[in-house]
Amino acid sequence: MMRARTPSIHHRMMDREITVAREICFCGWVGELEDREPVYAGDGEWGLGCPMCGHLDRLEAWSEAARGRTLAEAAQRRESTVNATLDT
Ligand SMILES: [Zn+2]
Repeated sequence: MMRARTPSIHHRMMDREITVAREICFCGWVGELEDREPVYAGDGEWGLGCPMCGHLDRLEAWSEAARGRTLAEAAQRRESTVNATLDT
């Protein structure tokens, strides 16, 4: 029954680790997962494509919640990138 006392801070740290995770693609591209491009993979599934080689990671190992959050963040970053490009 000692396991019931899981500190909630542990959960927050896990979230943070996912958010700042660095991705290394086999093509040599290194960056944050959210800097990859959201790509529709079909069947209602989305993945993140490498901006350099287009390699698609469907994030199959991820939970649905973590995947949704990452995809949303990636889409948001792309939007702000596009806006910044248009402004200049
Ligand atoms: Zn790549």
